Amino acid sequence: MSSLPAETPIHWPAQGPKRALPPEGPVLKDGARARIEANKLAKRLRRQVGQAIMDYNMISDGDRVMVCLSGGKDSYTMLEMLLQLQAKAPVRFEILAVNLDQKQPGFPEHVLPDYLRARGVPFHIIEQDTYSVVKRVIPEGKTTCGLCSRLRRGALYAYAREHGYTKIALGHHKDDIVATFFLNLFHGGKLAAMPPKLLSDDGDNVVIRPLAYCRERDIAAFAEHKAFPIIPCNLCGSQENLQRKQVRRMMEDWEREHPARIEQAFAALTNVAPSQLADPGLFDFASLGGDAPGARDWLIADAAG
Ligand code: SF4
Repeated sequence: MSSLPAETPIHWPAQGPKRALPPEGPVLKDGARARIEANKLAKRLRRQVGQAIMDYNMISDGDRVMVCLSGGKDSYTMLEMLLQLQAKAPVRFEILAVNLDQKQPGFPEHVLPDYLRARGVPFHIIEQDTYSVVKRVIPEGKTTCGLCSRLRRGALYAYAREHGYTKIALGHHKDDIVATFFLNLFHGGKLAAMPPKLLSDDGDNVVIRPLAYCRERDIAAFAEHKAFPIIPCNLCGSQENLQRKQVRRMMEDWEREHPARIEQAFAALTNVAPSQLADPGLFDFASLGGDAPGARDWLIADAAG
């Protein structure tokens, strides 16, 4: 494990036996059958996370993985899955849980540290008042999530860069990826989603999404079973924007009436046929059937006129 700059206030777990965690929450249904179902659910999530890590080569030997923990069900589940895989993995990688305390009024700042100490996970809390910035910049009544997320990303990426973390793990899941795809399709005029692994815009960080193959409903059931101490994201009182709400509602309707659609939409993202789309930057349509030098000059002249 590489050493960290001396000033970094990382909270390492206390030596000795781990403190007992609070009892787990209500199992999915009463009795032994419910426990079997809960075990099956945990196993399914672990298998999906393992598969995504393998398919996209997300974690290698010696990686230092910064796990971004917001206090929501997704990030708790991601952390738990990575800890379980870390315990069994043939490769050695480091995990640091990092939370950004954005100084929202009412943020229960003791919840995550208490949980992480009890779980025996090293962690660091970044304190940065992005809440005031967002309130100052965004007019009253407008949704603040866009700027808030950008500022949060900036703070987390900067911490990873400055402290030598090789991977940044975010808790987006399959439903988030499909929702982003439809948002871009309906409102952005582009075919793009959220990749399971990417290089950040500044080129300094590799971002991974280990829950890319996991369904939100499974994560919600797992989080309930584990009784994670959830911190709601909307303490700030902001609402997600209307377009995102509409896409979410559309996907919820599909979930009831055409349950295979979200799986199919995700499968499509992994099975792209550039020659069956219309992007000349992705497929060389111009050269199909040959293209003599100057053959299109008359069209260029026509378009210009
Ligand atoms: S709900 Fe509030 S804290 Fe959550 S992303 Fe939106 S602005 Fe930020």
